[in-house]
Amino acid sequence: MDTVSLSGKELAAAINADTKERAAALTASGTAPRLALIVANDDPASAWYVNSLRKAAERLGIGCDTVELGADASIERIRDELTARSADATIDAIMLQTPLPAGVTLDDVSSAIAATKDVDGVSPLSLGLLASNLDGFVPATSEAVVELLKHHEIPLAGMHVTVVGRSNIVGKPLAQLLLAENATVTICHSRTTDLPAVTSAADIVVAAAGRIGLVTGKHIRAGATVIDVGTNESPDGKIVGDVDAETVRGKAAALSPVPGGIGPVTTALLMRHVVTAAEKAHPA
Ligand code: NAD
Repeated sequence: MDTVSLSGKELAAAINADTKERAAALTASGTAPRLALIVANDDPASAWYVNSLRKAAERLGIGCDTVELGADASIERIRDELTARSADATIDAIMLQTPLPAGVTLDDVSSAIAATKDVDGVSPLSLGLLASNLDGFVPATSEAVVELLKHHEIPLAGMHVTVVGRSNIVGKPLAQLLLAENATVTICHSRTTDLPAVTSAADIVVAAAGRIGLVTGKHIRAGATVIDVGTNESPDGKIVGDVDAETVRGKAAALSPVPGGIGPVTTALLMRHVVTAAEKAHPA
């Protein structure tokens, strides 16, 4: 079977073209959109990602402040910074970069981000709004999965989708979004027994575990669609996904590549959220 590659580049370009226009309109009316990126680590992969977000913002006409708190920042220090940026009228959007310092979890600090500026949908309020089907910012990676599937005209209503990973920022919000699209959703995690049996039952498998090569050809049924959310650094320094593309290709009907699949769509959606936050803060 020929496996279609579900590239995210074309979709990301279309989203970015719209975002750029909206950012230009805000700037013309004297309210240029501005994002604060809060970093409390010295992780090289995170530094690479922050740099790519800064470049994406610049290309789209979005201002970007990077606030480095250091890898030993306390819960109180991070919360204080998030509270201050939430109250700062010159900032429209806040993104807290992970990993956080040892001993600090996202749950410890995310409630200090104002929901109106929480463009990656990580705060308990944003996650609660999503679970209640109410309007709020949705985690960009989860949204990217649904948008990529829709872009490639892969139906979701009535389909059985298995999500591998149950984190608060990818797996769980994705399950909510898929339910809203009328999919039948199964979530797997590190304690799932017989992962291949569960994933093989699905029409669509989404791998979001952060484990290189976890999903192989024996985890999917012939003709399934496979979305690879994984963004892992391989021992030779390359960015690789959670899917073993070699064994999945030829068996799956479609597979999203890493890089070039979910990644560019996630960044594009984040930037779209920044502009949406700015438009809401400064109605025309
Ligand atoms: P996480 O570590 O918070 O969660 C991983 C989840 O996978 C957990 O729920 C765990 O139970 C599950 N898991 C781990 N090993 C498993 C196994 N052997 N079998 C089944 N389930 C298993 O990670 P996260 O923040 O949700 O990120 C997941 C992946 O997505 C990572 O590779 C991350 O880099 C990537 N990611 C990509 C983007 C993007 O824009 N492309 C954004 C965010 C995260």
